Amino acid sequence: MTDLLARHRAVIPNWVNVYYDQPIEIVSGKGCRVTDSQGRGYLDFFAGILTNMLGYDVAEVREAVERQLASGVVHTSTLYLIRNQVELAEKIAKLSQIPDAKVFFTNSGSEANETALVAALVARKANQVLAMRGSYHGRSFGTVAVTGNAAWKASSNDPFGTHYLHGTDRQLPPYRTLSDAEFIDACVADLRALLSGGIHPGDVGALIAEPIQGVGGFTMAPDGLFAAYKEVLDEHGILLISDEVQTGWGRTGAHFWGIQAHGVTPDMMTFAKGLGNGFAIGGVVGRGDLLDGIRGNGISTFGGNPVATAAGNATLDYVLSHDLQKNAAVTGAIIIDGIRAAAADLAIVGEVRGRGLMFAVDLVDPATKRLSPKLAGKALEATRERGLLVGKGGLYGATLRMAPPLTISVAEAREGLGLLVDALRAVDTEAAG
Ligand code: PMP
Repeated sequence: MTDLLARHRAVIPNWVNVYYDQPIEIVSGKGCRVTDSQGRGYLDFFAGILTNMLGYDVAEVREAVERQLASGVVHTSTLYLIRNQVELAEKIAKLSQIPDAKVFFTNSGSEANETALVAALVARKANQVLAMRGSYHGRSFGTVAVTGNAAWKASSNDPFGTHYLHGTDRQLPPYRTLSDAEFIDACVADLRALLSGGIHPGDVGALIAEPIQGVGGFTMAPDGLFAAYKEVLDEHGILLISDEVQTGWGRTGAHFWGIQAHGVTPDMMTFAKGLGNGFAIGGVVGRGDLLDGIRGNGISTFGGNPVATAAGNATLDYVLSHDLQKNAAVTGAIIIDGIRAAAADLAIVGEVRGRGLMFAVDLVDPATKRLSPKLAGKALEATRERGLLVGKGGLYGATLRMAPPLTISVAEAREGLGLLVDALRAVDTEAAG
């Protein structure tokens, strides 16, 4: 393992971080469990960063991919009709509830967001974009420009002149004491002020936003904010793009798309991660006129290829036929309620947030109550030692974030909750001593 780590460090750029003091190599998986190269087993509460949405070694997905491989056709390109792609696009268009929707497939969330931004800017003949503070939208040139999280901003180049809105920064002193309704009013007033004096609304193509910020530590605006924003945006024809890369497919339990919690239908939604259950697929679903409006020819060589879309169809069918959205609501509530109950005695736990199978815990210094990246690092190690894989993130790197496969059972949810709470207790005791 140390040998592989040394080889990794020698040839992989140093900004590709690996978790843990002693990074692990996952060599096999089944359901919600994985095994590392040392033979240690883990319950996986991070699922390849929300990507192994059904867990590991799912027969339905494997068989769909194997059938495609057996045909001899791995790739043809979009110069030819691809049945799997058309079928998957039909399903996603319908599920989107966007009228006359069309779908363009890519290989990643970054490319999906790039496509949505291009469609919005071309349609609006605009060059500026609104985004949320603390956001993450990808690692390509345009998506880095609309990413409001310095830890993930590879470059400050910004072709859009991005303006960042309030909404996910409620912990800041001026907002902390406001009710949901007051906070939404304050955010909307800020947007109105920006568009009525700060910038020319006609220059703005779209607002791009994650309904629940993934990399940002599962921070979220109060329900209804994006509907309130959209009323203002509609006055100017500015479009709304919901980045559903982490929140789509029922993960939030209450809704199939995260943005539905706000009671608003966006003009476009982008997706990636979970749809292929590990196979590379992303895309944008949006109003047909907007996606048709992108000029010139367009191709994403591998986007929507026969293998990825075979996996996508099988995964989506599985999510729907097993009502995994409901499972996310039920198992997620058990875990979130359990963490909240345990947190009452834990001085190192700050806010506990979450919705469905997307939940997070802020780690704070017990004395100052300030966010503590150091304690989050310790908690990450403590979970691994107990056989639980979780993620770490947040704007200040002080958040444990978790998103198990949507197939997790009630027993596994309780088991993972127990491991997590035990790890937090150990860090709490150490911090107090
Ligand atoms: N949007 C969001 C909300 C994401 O979480 C991510 C990936 N973490 C992306 C976009 C970019 O996706 P990808 O890494 O597939 O390019």
